[in-house]
Amino acid sequence: MMQRLYFHSDSRRGAEKTFSWLKEEINELGEAMESTDTEALKNEFADVIAWVASLANLLEINLERAVLEKYPNRCPKCNLLPCRCHFR
Ligand SMILES: [Zn+2]
Repeated sequence: MMQRLYFHSDSRRGAEKTFSWLKEEINELGEAMESTDTEALKNEFADVIAWVASLANLLEINLERAVLEKYPNRCPKCNLLPCRCHFR
């Protein structure tokens, strides 16, 4: 969907500038986490995912396939669902 929506403009912008936009959106997500505005938080999550998808499209990565291959309904490290790894 993001490819159909934005690939023409993403192509003109290029991967480096798209990555800069993604970093900006991640910062905005961090700022939204500090407020109690759930709607703003929801919007920032959507923006981050949208920019990740745009960058993946530019780099010819099928994002959905990449995620499902790495996380095939189980943890890639311990191979369990739910994960039993010990994170810090
Ligand atoms: Zn695990």
